[in-house]
Amino acid sequence: MPANLEGIPVAPTEPVDENSPKRALVVAAHPDDADFGAAGTAYLWSRQGWEFYYLVCTDGSKGSDDESLSRQRLIDMRRQEQRDAAAVLGVKDVFFLDHVDGELTPNRRLLGDIVRLIRQVQPHAVFTHDPETVIVNDVFVNHADHRVTGLAAIDAVYPAARDRLNFPEQIAEGLSTHKVSQIYIWGSPQANFEVDITDVIDKKIEALLAHTSQFEADFVKALMERWKSPEGRYVESYRRVLMGF
Ligand SMILES: [Zn+2]
Repeated sequence: MPANLEGIPVAPTEPVDENSPKRALVVAAHPDDADFGAAGTAYLWSRQGWEFYYLVCTDGSKGSDDESLSRQRLIDMRRQEQRDAAAVLGVKDVFFLDHVDGELTPNRRLLGDIVRLIRQVQPHAVFTHDPETVIVNDVFVNHADHRVTGLAAIDAVYPAARDRLNFPEQIAEGLSTHKVSQIYIWGSPQANFEVDITDVIDKKIEALLAHTSQFEADFVKALMERWKSPEGRYVESYRRVLMGF
């Protein structure tokens, strides 16, 4: 595998062997987070035969200062925006858990909800937030919903989704246990894997701009400038975990 100057492996192609199912589940806290974290990868790998699915844990109901918007209207808008963004990228489907935005806690219900989706989708790879970082580069706070989502997604991968005695009622309903092989964590200071998305950066921008209640074009353009490397490249960086079971 080629590596960049820092020695971080760069994978322009699919990181699975021929016999592995090319399916990924992106577990995000809010509508738009999956696109910030992994839109370029989702688009790029989908073109290489992967199936991507999004799971959004909260209803996004705190994501606006517009007093004219009712809570339900905002929820409905953000759902549609996330579906529109997913369609841009070739993401197969979007699932919503509708936990209340800003009030996510690492409880049994959230864990069971994510385990159920993993058992339904049976993904080779799970993408999610970094649960470990609280303060980001001394200039920002990693949203509590992001931390809780990342932690619950990782706990769902191991051991909950794998073992039949966890949430046995799901097994009784006919779902199968599932072993996720790889976890990709965005926003981690311990990134060890990069996907070069330079050639598809327009698709990431288009996906982000589908979230019309959240961003305007100038904001996304400014973000892109900030994310651009000195060489003019764009990457999505992850801490990749290759599960050893
Ligand atoms: Zn978020």
